[in-house]
Parts: sequence; structure tokens; C-alpha cells
Amino acid sequence: MEKLLVISLLLLISTSVTTSQSVTDPIAFLRCLDRQPTDPTSPNSAVAYIPTNSSFTTVLRSRIPNLRFDKPTTPKPISVVAAATWTHIQAAVGCARELSLQVRIRSGGHDFEGLSYTSTVPFFVLDMFGFKTVDVNLTERTAWVDSGATLGELYYRISEKSNVLGFPAGLSTTLGVGGHFSGGGYGNLMRKYGLSVDNVVGSGIVDSNGNIFTDRVSMGEDRFWAIRGGGAASYGVVLGYKIQLVPVPEKVTVFKVGKTVGEGAVDLIMKWQSFAHSTDRNLFVRLTLTLVNGTKPGENTVLATFIGMYLGRSDKLLTVMNRDFPELKLKKTDCTEMRWIDSVLFWDDYPVGTPTSVLLNPLVAKKLFMKRKSDYVKRLISRTDLGLILKKLVEVEKVKMNWNPYGGRMGEIPSSRTPFPHRAGNLFNIEYIIDWSEAGDNVEKKYLALANEFYRFMTPYVSSNPREAFLNYRDLDIGSSVKSTYQEGKIYGAKYFKENFERLVDIKTTIDAENFWKNEQSIPVRR
Ligand SMILES: Cc1cc2nc3c(=O)[nH]c(=O)nc-3n(C[C@H](O)[C@H](O)[C@H](O)COP(=O)(O)OP(=O)(O)OC[C@H]3O[C@@H](n4cnc5c(N)ncnc54)[C@H](O)[C@@H]3O)c2cc1C
Repeated sequence: MEKLLVISLLLLISTSVTTSQSVTDPIAFLRCLDRQPTDPTSPNSAVAYIPTNSSFTTVLRSRIPNLRFDKPTTPKPISVVAAATWTHIQAAVGCARELSLQVRIRSGGHDFEGLSYTSTVPFFVLDMFGFKTVDVNLTERTAWVDSGATLGELYYRISEKSNVLGFPAGLSTTLGVGGHFSGGGYGNLMRKYGLSVDNVVGSGIVDSNGNIFTDRVSMGEDRFWAIRGGGAASYGVVLGYKIQLVPVPEKVTVFKVGKTVGEGAVDLIMKWQSFAHSTDRNLFVRLTLTLVNGTKPGENTVLATFIGMYLGRSDKLLTVMNRDFPELKLKKTDCTEMRWIDSVLFWDDYPVGTPTSVLLNPLVAKKLFMKRKSDYVKRLISRTDLGLILKKLVEVEKVKMNWNPYGGRMGEIPSSRTPFPHRAGNLFNIEYIIDWSEAGDNVEKKYLALANEFYRFMTPYVSSNPREAFLNYRDLDIGSSVKSTYQEGKIYGAKYFKENFERLVDIKTTIDAENFWKNEQSIPVRR
């Protein structure tokens, strides 16, 4: 009987391979995993959750922060493989090939379009959260960080060893290193040190045949270039990155000052546009635009909040601010000096005094429905146009904006050094934020429509031909691939990568000609 089962299974598999039909039976997937080379102390199938396991849903949902993709109707994987060893990854890749399944690689799960855990074709999730080693080498001032570690874990482990070293990466501490670095990775050290990928010096990756390349030399310079901002999911499973740590002072200074339109926000935003990208590169001042109650009942107005960090003490910061942005009238009492590691908590909105051990919690506290869009601004927005933008913000109500200044180191790095092309000439990046908590298709439709309306409205003020976008703020509205053709890919690829898109396609064509690694916005093969 058992023999018969094996024969019929083999027949089923060989049929599926020859016809390229996916095998969607979870049990067949488990059996496949166990047919692959295995480590007897940790069998492959033991780390694979399938829908009949009681913990399947918990494991799947624990790293879905975006409620837009956490609905009963969201397509589910046939399995979540919580890989803990390289052998598990190799087995999962082997079964993706054998059973014609798509692999969705997930590190932190923060992809804004859910591409790391949803798909419209049969798939499984390769979860990397078990890979979270952070190994800091103080002599070299480097660290190895596994893909499944969060930024919070990375920052915490660095600070355990040194209070004068840090790393330039994102502001939200539950982001996964795997996805964050593969899209570039920016944070408040960007004007001084560039992006995360500008400070990556090595990596390891598993390819579509299960080959493991443990360093930059063995994977080759092209592949190493592509996975630093080109979306690593088009090229393989990144095991981790070797990073160069950067010096930070013993004390940094942070501040947050908000002014409404009635309190002079328009003048301040006008000045911010020319100040923020050109000031001292030790200073990063993000501008956020949100709605608050106006002075009259039922009326809304825009609040401009300037959130800053200076790599140094407050007296020096005040000298810089009085020289470059006196209009903000920043006072000593607005400033708080703290260790760099405490500033990480400040930027992630933790109350002052929160213990840094909270950084070791990898899961988001509050899930929301989320949509993001992005833009790049290369010319100052005039006062008249700014007035129109603020009026539109009040009209659409639901959209918030973060304006993140570039300049400094960002302007010095050639745009072809990594796939991330948005370098010199950019004043700031805009992140459009649309978050909501009410469930329902109609609500979702309404908010997504408002997001698109506002994005269309911004067209004259932002980059064009192409209208550039930031990969980490993934947005399927700017183009997505159904047939994985070059033509489809070029539509979103030119926006995310500009001229670098062609090199990404060439590398893809050389190392993954069969297009094994694909998703709705992957790099296509040139045919
Ligand atoms: C609240 C919030 C704040 C944010 N703040 C910032 C910020 O300050 N700066 C910034 O730059 N971005 C920011 N982002 C965007 C964030 O960097 C991206 O969403 C990033 O992709 C998240 O990485 P992840 O590992 O958590 O996501 P995942 O969803 O796990 O992965 C994202 C993509 O990378 C792929 N991937 C993941 N791991 C691997 C791997 N090991 N090998 C190959 N491919 C892999 C996935 O398949 C997917 O395509 C923010 C996002 C959120 C939700």
C-alpha cells in the first residue's frame, strides 16, 4: 500500500514537472522536503507548517503587519517553512523547483504590498525569522547580520558592544534586515553615511539550484551589486549581510517641534525646503505633514512637525540651527541629548525612558491597514503651490506625508554605485502615508482612491520621465508584472532604478535565465 502511494506520488510529481502544473497538496510538499538532503537532527519537514497544523495561522499572521493582506480572502501559502538551517533553505528551494511552486521569501514581513507572504499563484512562504544572528567585530568595526534579524535587534547588539558605533538604516525597529537592505534602506544617518547598502561590504546567498555562496567573491560582483537595492527576491535567498559600522558620538541630540498653518507653518516649510538638504550633514530634519483640529469647530488644519537628530551635543546643534534655520526658533528646552541607541527608540515613537531591551521584540504592537506611495522632489515647490498642496491635504483628509531630506553623503555617491539611483539632484523624498483601522472593502476602496487622487495632484511638483519611486515603499500602482516580460518590468523598473534597471536585467538574465525568482515587481529576464 505504502509502495503504491510512493509510486502514485512520483507519478503525480513527474506529471506536474513535465506540465509545469504546481503541486498544491501540502502533504506532497512535506514529503518532498523529506526527500531532499536533510540534517537528521533537524528534519526539513519539521520546520514546515501546513494549514492543518494548529500553529499554521499564528506563524503566518505573526509577520503580517498590514491588515490589507490579512483577510480571509487573502491567498494563503500551502506551507510556511520556518527555516533554521541552510539545509532547510536548500530543501525548500529544491521543492519549489520540483513541485513548480513559487517561493515568497519573508524576513520582517513589512513589504507594503504583501509580496513576501501572498501570491496569486500556488506558493509557500520561506520564513527567515529563525536567522537572527548579529555578530559584531569591534576590531574590524564590522558586523555580520542575518536576514531574519530586525533592525531593532541589529541596533541593540551593536550598542551592547559599543556606544560610539551605529549603523545607517530605517527608523522602524521591527523591519527585517532581509527586505530592508534589499531595497536600499534609509534612515536618519543617511545624510552623513548614505543608505544601509552603501555600508554593506559582504553577503551570502542561496541560488535557485540550492548552491550557497557565502561571500562577495564567490557570489560575484554583479550579484553582489544587484542585491544591494535591486530587490534581492529577484536573485535568491539572502542569508545575511556583512556591514561596516559607522562612528556615532556618545551623545546625539533630538528634537520635535510642531507648528500649524496658523502658527506660521508655511514660512517654515518654505525655508525647510532649501535648508534641510544643504545644512550640516550631521543634521537630519524630517518634516511630517498631518491634519489636526483647527481653531474653529469642525475645521481641520495642517500641522508641520520638524523632527530632527544632530550627531553631537545640543549647544552645537543650536549654533547650526541659528545659522541655517533661525526661523524655527529652536530652543535648548526643545532639545534632548541621549545615547544613539536611545534615539532609535525616540524615532520609533517609544516613550522616553523605555528600556532598550524592547528592541529585541520582533513583532509589531499594532496592525493597521496600510498603503504607501513615494515621490522625489528636485525643484523647490513655490509658495503658491505649497498653499495648494496644504489645501488638498485638508480636502482629502486621510493622507499624511513624510518629507525626508537628501543631500550630504547621498549627493556624493554615484547613482550607478548600487541599484538605488536617487542620488545627487534630489532635494527630498516624499512618503505618502495612508493608514486606517476600519475593516471593509468599501472603506478600503475609498482610502485607496483618495491616495491615488492625492498622488495625481502632486504630479507637477515631483520628478517626471520617469516619475521616480522608492522600492522600499513598494507600490503596485506604478506597474506590475503578470507575464514577467521585459516590457512590463520596464514600467516599474525605470521608476525604481532609472538607468540601473538595464544592468539589473542583464544580471538577472545571466544568473536566473529561467526566471525562478519572481513576483509582481521582480526584475525580468531579457528575451
Ligand atoms: C512601519 C514601517 C516603517 C518603515 N520605515 C522605513 C524606513 O525608515 N526606511 C526605509 O528604507 N524603509 C522603511 N520602510 C520600508 C521597509 O524598508 C520595507 O518594507 C522593507 O522591504 C521591509 O523589509 P522586511 O524584511 O521587513 O519585509 P519583507 O516583507 O519580509 O520583505 C520585503 C521584500 O524583500 C524580500 N526579501 C525579504 N527577505 C529576503 C531575503 N532574505 N532574501 C531575498 N529577498 C528577501 C521579500 O520577498 C519582499 O519582496 C518602512 C516600512 C514600514 C511598514
